[in-house]
Amino acid sequence: MTTKITYKAWRVNAQDDQYIGSVQSLNTADLPEGEVLIRVSHSSLNYKDALSASGNKGVTRSFPHTPGIDAAGEVVESRAGSPAVGGSVIVTGYDLGMNTDGGFGEYIRIPSAWCVPLPEGWKTRTAMIYGTAGLTAGLSVQKLLTMGASPEQGKVAVSGASGAVGSVAVELLAKLGFEVVAISGKASQIEELKELGAQEVVGRDTLAENKKPLLKPVFAHAVDTVGGNPLAELLKQVRPGGSVSCCGLVAGAGLATTVLPFILRGVNLLGVDSVEIPLAEKDAVWQKFAGDWSCPKTEAAAKDIGRTELDSALKAFLKGESSGKTVLDHSK
Ligand code: NDP
Repeated sequence: MTTKITYKAWRVNAQDDQYIGSVQSLNTADLPEGEVLIRVSHSSLNYKDALSASGNKGVTRSFPHTPGIDAAGEVVESRAGSPAVGGSVIVTGYDLGMNTDGGFGEYIRIPSAWCVPLPEGWKTRTAMIYGTAGLTAGLSVQKLLTMGASPEQGKVAVSGASGAVGSVAVELLAKLGFEVVAISGKASQIEELKELGAQEVVGRDTLAENKKPLLKPVFAHAVDTVGGNPLAELLKQVRPGGSVSCCGLVAGAGLATTVLPFILRGVNLLGVDSVEIPLAEKDAVWQKFAGDWSCPKTEAAAKDIGRTELDSALKAFLKGESSGKTVLDHSK
């Protein structure tokens, strides 16, 4: 029998081409089919949530809809052997918060195959400080390491450094001993980025459009979170044999480059997807963040907000004004 529980969610309604989010009372009986019902204690704010909440049809096709691509909480019903009732789980990606009601509601119902057990000793809030953004930063760094990146090879650039993905990448790379150059458009974040471990913070003009097909190679490797023209410019500045992981598109989905960085310098462009990858790959990164890869500064600096603050926090993402990590606490 399906349990009927009334709960609160920040839900987006479409009205005359406007997308308006508000806190509403819903019932778990109206959640989609799925083997596992989870009481969500925390979610995490991501750029994709801002796209969903503003009616981006590439993310969310139909409304009303509850965004939230991340959720962590306790299993309250399970029709699968695993996870068991009472267990704590992390859910990120797949269809959560896109066309399946997501973590901005106090309850989600999802397939068991989307649930990663919360690492031993971790709290659900800690998992959501990292969220999809942290997971993506971890996967981006993992890709560089898999290609043989090591600190003695030289500087590693991080673009969109003050953002949710970029800031975790900065702290993690610095923790692993890399000399990190944070590329940021926010003069106000210079001190914070240095505090996270960046040795240098440079402006976005470092990646300003330049007609030359190759530039002086200054970076051994890079984590790019912005895509578009800045990524094309970054590729021109990577040293022979270097790697660039690419996960984002805030500066554009297009990539106008020549093949020269690839064929004259052997630069590797590495795609990063945190959404559809196998659960085991997500689990491996969560275990690392709960262990050697912990980012204490990111954890300490995370901001907690309640549902009524979601609207303005999501709009800041769309304006490129957000920084660091923001956690949605359903008890606030
Ligand atoms: P944020 O909005 O938190 O950060 C993006 C940062 O990029 C901003 O803080 C800003 O940093 C910089 N920025 C914003 N606008 C521009 C612009 N027009 N030109 C250049 N830089 C800009 O987003 P996230 O960190 O959460 O996500 C970053 C990207 O990664 C997004 O495109 C997101 O969709 C994508 N993503 C992809 C995933 C995947 O699985 N592939 C998973 C998670 C995210 P600063 O001011 O410091 O320059």
